[in-house]
Amino acid sequence: MENKIFSRVLTGDRPTGQLHIGHYFGALKQRVSLQGSHETYVIIADVQVLTDNFQFPEKVRSNVYEVALDNLAVGIDPERSVMFIQSMIPEIAELTVFFSNLVTIARLERNPTVKEEFAQKETVFGKNITFGFLGYPVSQAADILAFEAAIVPVGEDQLPQIEQTREIVRKFNGIYGETFIEPEPVLSSSPRIKGLDGRAKMGKSIDNAIYLADNHETTERKIMNAVTDVNKIRKNDPGNPAVCVVFEYHLLFENGHAEHIRSECCSGTRGCVVCKKELAALVNGALLPIRERRIHFSEHISDVQNILHEGTEKARLTASATMEKVRERMHIDYRRTEVRS
Ligand code: ATP
Ligand code: MG
Repeated sequence: MENKIFSRVLTGDRPTGQLHIGHYFGALKQRVSLQGSHETYVIIADVQVLTDNFQFPEKVRSNVYEVALDNLAVGIDPERSVMFIQSMIPEIAELTVFFSNLVTIARLERNPTVKEEFAQKETVFGKNITFGFLGYPVSQAADILAFEAAIVPVGEDQLPQIEQTREIVRKFNGIYGETFIEPEPVLSSSPRIKGLDGRAKMGKSIDNAIYLADNHETTERKIMNAVTDVNKIRKNDPGNPAVCVVFEYHLLFENGHAEHIRSECCSGTRGCVVCKKELAALVNGALLPIRERRIHFSEHISDVQNILHEGTEKARLTASATMEKVRERMHIDYRRTEVRS
């Protein structure tokens, strides 16, 4: 990492399931390109997942490996990036406790992403949110600041969490002295990919996704069932590509034909079935090398375990150096020689 520009990147995923094309275009692609120029930390946020999956520890554990496989499959290189498991870095939990003094309940309740996610999780929480779930943006600030990351590549839904992190930095520095820098979010050019069902976000907890690990047939079947413009009923009805997820995905996997597709759809000379078949072929072609790498790593799972353990060791060194500074600034760096008799 010697030749890298010294600004750290922190990025990562919640191990709630396999990763999908929304993650790929929203975060992973950018993550892979940043690892060439920046010291990149990739967090597998299992502690955060327990905030809304505390009853399913086995599911979280198995998805840690699924998410690691997806990252390796898209090109995260353990020689250039540090991939680690959040729960194995106790410094993050420690920092979360200190930060929790700096954030009010009212501020947490205003977070629009937490509100939206809470509304989707009535089966988990009923009407009452837990302390842990309401506070996960504080723990996310600790994820970022434990590594003193300057850059955080995220999808659009994560912008409120980065803003919360920046507020914590200002408050911490104001009270304890200059310690942290305010991290910048970096959005990809596709920060919010819609779901196959037309919902605003493809999400791995919602079952409206094309997963990187899906096979050829599954991908084709999902695309054939995707929601298009509901007003285009017959093949020759003019359609509106602006409201069609199939067209949105054509733009993502673009091979130079998007404008042609748009004009055929608008003029009613393109049917949805053909459009979907073309898209399925495009998606399957683009995902083929990713799927092959994923299969390779899944057949060598002990290599993946080693990568995670080595990454976690490196990540701990960085996080404990940060904590030493934090303890000093907060006047809680008690040393034996200083204890009064
Ligand atoms: P969960 O429902 O468990 O929160 P998720 O699909 O939101 O899962 P995360 O692990 O929370 O996935 O997010 C990982 C990264 O991918 C984040 O930076 C997030 O903003 C981004 N991301 C997730 N879904 C999309 C999407 N549909 N479009 C663009 N980016 C996305
Ligand atoms: Mg999420």
